[in-house]
Amino acid sequence: MKGRFAPSPTGHMHVGNIWVAFLSYWSARRQGGEYIVRIEDVDTQRSKPIYAEHILEDLAWLGFTWDEEPTYQSQRLPVYEQYVMELQQQQRLYPCYCNRARLQEISSAPHQGESHHVYDGYCFTNTPTVGERPPSWRFHMPNEENSFIDIYRGRVQYEVQSLVDDIILKRWDGMIAYHLAVVIDDYDMGVTEVIRGNDLLPVTGHQITLAHAFELSGLQYGHVPMLVDEEGYRLSKRQQSITIRDLQGQGASPEHIWGWLALSTGILEPGDVPRCRKISLDELLGIKISPQVLAQDIIKLTNFDIMV
Ligand code: GLU
Repeated sequence: MKGRFAPSPTGHMHVGNIWVAFLSYWSARRQGGEYIVRIEDVDTQRSKPIYAEHILEDLAWLGFTWDEEPTYQSQRLPVYEQYVMELQQQQRLYPCYCNRARLQEISSAPHQGESHHVYDGYCFTNTPTVGERPPSWRFHMPNEENSFIDIYRGRVQYEVQSLVDDIILKRWDGMIAYHLAVVIDDYDMGVTEVIRGNDLLPVTGHQITLAHAFELSGLQYGHVPMLVDEEGYRLSKRQQSITIRDLQGQGASPEHIWGWLALSTGILEPGDVPRCRKISLDELLGIKISPQVLAQDIIKLTNFDIMV
């Protein structure tokens, strides 16, 4: 059994990130499994090495341990290129010359953080107008309705559609897409369980279908509730939210943060947390978490109060 945390180093870690990291860690360690951290920095425009450094520092400060040196996707580009070539040889990819303006025109306004756009299949159904720049490469999805068993949510149905869901796996400028890297890496690194935020639920079907193209299967998924603030807004890096560094700056210890997170999310009751509501990550590994808590869509977080 092997679990993982796969942060994108596009900002400082906030409590929403450590909630997901915690649940993946809790699950792996309770099963006696291994745990790895993978820095998902294929998006060269948004990722910054300094954030990766800080994420690893914050995780260590909070008490996480990992069993292998962290991997950086930016160092694995030749591996992804191999898979792109394999798909090209199988004619599962087609070149797309649509520019950004055209793609924006056809896609409905994506919600914040939404990770896929709707395509109209123009370059698949028409002889593409070769542009000035190299093409992006799209994966031609089969039409497929299927399901998988989510650890917390039970059977989840998904549907992928040809053309509409033909995702770009390699961008015109050479950038490898998150979907390709994440699928290859989880299997390559021997991960058996993926615990992640349920914001990724809409693309899990795409990733399973892509894995099938490489004849890979068997990964277990568990999608956990997203944390929202008191007004109901998602804690995301784009919004004002509490980073671990902010909390450190306010004088919080790791035990303060874990105590607050455990109480605020409802995984522990006040009576369960002794010592001024402080608890360590190691102690948290000993608790049972009710499946109902993790089957929710969102969890509202109370404000952090160091005096609690
Ligand atoms: N790197 C992705 C993110 O930070 C997570 C990918 C995953 O857990 O599958 O949103």
